[in-house]
Amino acid sequence: MIFDLKSAFEKPVNIDFTLPPSWWKADEYDNPILGLDSGIDVHLHIRRAGERYVVEGSLHGGLILRCDRCIEAFHFDLKTEFRIFLAPYSEVKEEEIELSEDDMAVVFISGEEIELDEIIRSEIYLSIPMKILCKEDCAGLCPICGKNLNKEKCSCKKETGHPAFAKLKELLKK
Ligand SMILES: [Zn+2]
Ligand SMILES: [Zn+2]
Repeated sequence: MIFDLKSAFEKPVNIDFTLPPSWWKADEYDNPILGLDSGIDVHLHIRRAGERYVVEGSLHGGLILRCDRCIEAFHFDLKTEFRIFLAPYSEVKEEEIELSEDDMAVVFISGEEIELDEIIRSEIYLSIPMKILCKEDCAGLCPICGKNLNKEKCSCKKETGHPAFAKLKELLKK
């Protein structure tokens, strides 16, 4: 969705809409976000601040993430608020950017049309944890047989360390 900043020149603009699950397009092979579990409710407040614009927003919805440990897909509650600062590329000198407002991310723009989808997409990425776990104590996959240890137990002996050594031990027993 394209937003023309000129419409927020005089007074702030509020935008509310819901993005359907089909909106999400996975673009990378190892993307931890597999898709949306529900629509995403988007609220945006866009106002002018001198030469620049401030976008404050909130996103609520559900994501489908892939667990880093057991690689299963699971539901993740998306609930995030953000504030970004849009600065025209040509008019900003580096020293001018006041990073003292350190919770504000600066996005450089050229022209007055901004792509809201891009902003929302990057805020979704920023909202997910660095380490993605389906649950705090996810048991992960057995390094030997590959079974999901959250679902079933296996009889592999894990104290032997590397699977190659386990094989060797088996051979020596014979
Ligand atoms: Zn897991
Ligand atoms: Zn196993």
